[in-house]
Amino acid sequence: MDKITLDRLCGCAVGAAIGDALGMPLEFGPPSPPDKLVRVMRPGRLPAGSFTDDTEMALALAESLLAHRPLDGADLAQYFVSWYRHNPPDVGIQTAQVLNRIAQGESWQTAEAWALANRPDSAGNGSLMRCWPAALAWWNDRPQLVNDSRLQSRLTHPHPECVAGCIFVNWMIAELVKGAAPSLAFEGALQSVSLPDEMRQAVIAAPTHRREELPNTGWVRHTLESALWGLLTTSSFEEALVQVVNLGGDTDTAGAVTGALAGAAYGLEAIPLTWRQQLRGEWPLGSQKIWHVEDFACLSRQLAMK
Ligand SMILES: [Mg+2]
Repeated sequence: MDKITLDRLCGCAVGAAIGDALGMPLEFGPPSPPDKLVRVMRPGRLPAGSFTDDTEMALALAESLLAHRPLDGADLAQYFVSWYRHNPPDVGIQTAQVLNRIAQGESWQTAEAWALANRPDSAGNGSLMRCWPAALAWWNDRPQLVNDSRLQSRLTHPHPECVAGCIFVNWMIAELVKGAAPSLAFEGALQSVSLPDEMRQAVIAAPTHRREELPNTGWVRHTLESALWGLLTTSSFEEALVQVVNLGGDTDTAGAVTGALAGAAYGLEAIPLTWRQQLRGEWPLGSQKIWHVEDFACLSRQLAMK
């Protein structure tokens, strides 16, 4: 693998965690005034630079991918459940309900069927926020990328828009890692990934919006719109992230998805050094092991080269 490709793969993982950490203190707040955009890591409920559940679940997915390729649903479910057993404060409702059932002994397939039957309209961003490790593992194998992007979403978020959103973002990441410009990666994913009709219209329109038109809620469609808008209307990692984490609403998740895409587009070296130096978080929960930027870079190499 050449150095540029590796830099983009590492940029995706580090970028996702940094977007999560930048958005953390702004989560559920109002949009920032356009002349007062936050550009630095701030403390929130956690110290400045800390990542949250978005990155924790991605790390659980990454570790399962290192243990089983292609993914094994039952193994991934156990990684998610062992994370959930540490009572993460920010776990989403849908994720908690499904993982609770699996923790009590249900198979992941039975829990998925329960979610489809009892929460048929639930289409949150809880699988989109963590999907990038499947793109790093399969950046060079599109059929496997599609399969594992889908499987990791089905485990907690089987709604068709959640599944399609994960495949779409990971397809774009693979194109970006191979050197496509953001607009071409976007066109490539639009041509190749099947999206439900209304979602497709929203995705096509995403880069045409003004910032005040982006609701940035926890709905997967809104997160995808925000992230695509951030990537496609700016020309650097820093600007894409600053624009998106200042939208208000679900800022850490929109930041994580934007960071994965922009990191794959511009590479690790293009991520501001102060942001990289401040990134931190405990993983696995309860282990007291603190992850820093080098740990994400190392994980990316393992995922991409295994
Ligand atoms: Mg979060």
